[in-house]
Parts: sequence; C-alpha cells; structure tokens
Amino acid sequence: MSTLIKGGRIITAADDYVGDIYVEGERIAMLGESLDVDADRVIDASGKYVLPGCVDPHTHLDMPFGGTTTIDDVTSGQTAAAFGGTTCHVDFCIQSPGSSFADALDTWHGKRDGKQIIDMGFHIAVTDLREGGSLEELARLPEQGITSYKLFMAYKGALMVDDETLFRTMEVASQTGALVMVHAENGDLIDVLVRQALEAGNTEPLYHALTRPPEAEGEATNRAIQLAHVAGAPLYVVHVTCREAVEPIARAREAGWNVWGETCTQYFFNSLDDIAKPNFEGAKYVYSPPVRDKSNWDVLWNAVRTDALSAISTDHCAFLWDGQKTLGKDDFSKIPNGGPGLENRLHMIHEFGARAGRISLNRMVELLATSPAKLFGLYPKKGTVAVGSDADLVIFDPERKHTITAATQHSKTDYNLYEGTEVTGTPDVVLLRGNVLVEGDELVASPGIGQYVARARFGQELRAKSAIA
Ligand SMILES: [Zn+2]
Repeated sequence: MSTLIKGGRIITAADDYVGDIYVEGERIAMLGESLDVDADRVIDASGKYVLPGCVDPHTHLDMPFGGTTTIDDVTSGQTAAAFGGTTCHVDFCIQSPGSSFADALDTWHGKRDGKQIIDMGFHIAVTDLREGGSLEELARLPEQGITSYKLFMAYKGALMVDDETLFRTMEVASQTGALVMVHAENGDLIDVLVRQALEAGNTEPLYHALTRPPEAEGEATNRAIQLAHVAGAPLYVVHVTCREAVEPIARAREAGWNVWGETCTQYFFNSLDDIAKPNFEGAKYVYSPPVRDKSNWDVLWNAVRTDALSAISTDHCAFLWDGQKTLGKDDFSKIPNGGPGLENRLHMIHEFGARAGRISLNRMVELLATSPAKLFGLYPKKGTVAVGSDADLVIFDPERKHTITAATQHSKTDYNLYEGTEVTGTPDVVLLRGNVLVEGDELVASPGIGQYVARARFGQELRAKSAIA
C-alpha cells in the first residue's frame, strides 16, 4: 500500500515548507516539492498543515488508583488520542508493592494486547525495591525497551518511595541508560496538611489544592535534581505546574545538568478558580500536582518558550465525575486524582500557544512530538516527518472550527476540562504507519492496529532496521 499526500504545509520542529510526502508501506519513502509518482491512495492536503503524529509521554490508561480504575481503557483512551492527533504515547506500568517488575509488565501487556488504536510504550513505575522488584531486575528492563524509571515522591502510604529508593534507582539508571522520571511533591508534608485540613472539617475539593502548596512541589523538584546529579543520572520532572518548580529546573539546565521538565495542557488553563467551584464541580479539577494560582500560566508559557520546560503531556488519567470522583463527596482526600486530556492537547496548544503567538508552530511540534520522542527513545521513528520515519502524520486543517465538549469527545469520561472552548484548527486525517486512523469525524481503524514500541536507551536513536544506512 502506498500513499501520496500532496501539497500540504509540512511542519516539523525545524522546517516549514509546502511539499509532497510519499509513503510506501509503513514509512515515509520520499519528500519533495512536487513528487511525480503513482500511489494507491492520494490525499490532497492543500491548505492544510502536515504534522508528525504527536507523542504523549505521560498517560494512565486502565490504571487502578484510589479504590477504582481509570475510566479509559487502552481502546477508548487511544481513540481519544487519535482524534486529537496523537499517534504514540508512553503509559505507566505500575509495580504493585511486593510484586516483581515482570508481574507488572505481564499485567500491563495484557491490558493493551489486541486493543491498541495507536502505538505505545511503557515506563516502569518503581514503588518497592525491598520486597518486590530488585535492582538487578530493574537494570535488565531496558533490554525490553523499558528505558525510563518513574518514581513518586508523593502519595504517602501508596505509591510514594523514600529517598533511598529514589537514589538507588537513579544509580541504576546512570549505569543502564534509562531516564529517571519523578512526580515531585513532598508526600510527608502533604500528608500532614491533609490530616490537619480534615480534622478542621475542611472536606471540599478546594482543600486538595490548599494541602499541596507550590512549596511542596518546589522542594521535591530541587531534591530530585540534587540527588540525580549525585547519582549521575538524567532526570525528567513530570507535570511541572509552578514557578517554585520551574526555577530549580531552569537553574540546573543553565548549569548544564541533565535535567528536563514537562508540563501538561491543563496547567495553562485551569486554576484555583476551577477547583473552588461549588456543588462538588471542583472535583473535576482534582489532579496532582494541583491547579495553581493563575499567575503561573505566564510562568509556564515562558518556560516552554525558553526550553526551561521541554515537553507538554496530558497526564491523561480520566475518571467519571458522577460515580468515581464522587467517592470523595465528603472527603477531598478520597477523590480519585486525575483528569482527562488526551484528545485536546493539540487543539489547546495550537489555539492558545501557536495561534495566540506565544510559541511558533515549529516549537509547538517540538513540544508535542519531537522532544518527547527524543527524550524517550522513540526518535526518529516517531516525532518528525523524515525519510525512513514511520508515516505517523496529522493532516491538520488550520481553518476548521471545533468546539471542545464532553458531548462529542471520545474519552469515556463525562466531562472535559475545557468544556465549551471553541478552537480554530483540528485534525482532518490522522495516519499511523501509513494506515488511516481517523478521517473527519470517523474512526476508520479497528483495535489491534497499534503496536507496542520497544524504546531506545536514553540519548540513543530508534530507527527501522532497513532505514539504517
Ligand atoms: Zn501521571
């Protein structure tokens, strides 16, 4: 099967030109100003952007958490992703305390097998190095393409690790070429503040944010940076929300340390005003780290402009408002933490980042596709439009209007963090390895088309074998 995409404005992290793309099988075979070739299928992309499929480095599909399980499984979550122009993501495989990493991977491979709409890889979330997984087992995971270790510095009594586990994992990473990822909030501090709030009778969703102050994030971010520097491991701080965390990351990067930071779409748009909404509506905005004061929106836009922060993910972790978030109706600490977002990252960052002039189209592609692909061992198979790369392509209509609403979204949850927002620009056609996934409002592909991707080690490239000269 061959496909010729004609006359689109091809935009990568580096380039912006009008041209044709010839796809042979699953990969891009030719790029040119005007390609004179026959193809089984021709797509007219004139007036449209052609972007590399977006890569989301941070999602949680079919994950048990807080006494329930996220509402989106692999099929529904990846369908939402495909409609939003995301063709590859890296999900978290979570070690249950007391069990091995192999057990966790068996479980997580079972969740995706035969159900995938887009391509995916796994990070391993390390929760226990005493009873369950061992340092030796951790060191062998990169051989299976699991090349990032995630640790939670929060969620005391559940996922949180102590500094010894964090540091020992960093030491392993420094040897194996894995990237260490941290959820940076001080879990001990938060635990005390949560108990004090509940004792004082403060049970509303707003107290979720008030008991997780920006200082808790700033302190843990700085601690992780210092520990990683001692261990000699590269560090990626997930979901950075505020000035207190941006500053230590920016300082470390200026000093030439191997530190990167990510933020998520919602932190540019949601704030304390949302979580304070009455009648439990604030629970829709309960995720961690929490929404912040609006003054942080500009801090984050500046950070992604200057590369103090290098990627934008969704941290898609969707729960129903009515039926799951309600577990915490009388106690904010029982509200499952997480929000949806896989479908709207490109919509929102294109509208309020690129169209609003805060970032260039090239930088948008870099933040949503190229940087995540490079940092997580997927580049140049994913994350760019180049000869030899997978034909994961988004034909994006920059003029078509789209209203974001839960009523038409593909996630199974019952709300949307950007409800009612009208954007100009939305994907028209989305291809995964040359296969059409989405055409207009139709899902064309069926579950099973997506594949597991074994990722390269940190700093190494991932190429199709036949594409290596
Ligand atoms: Zn997360």
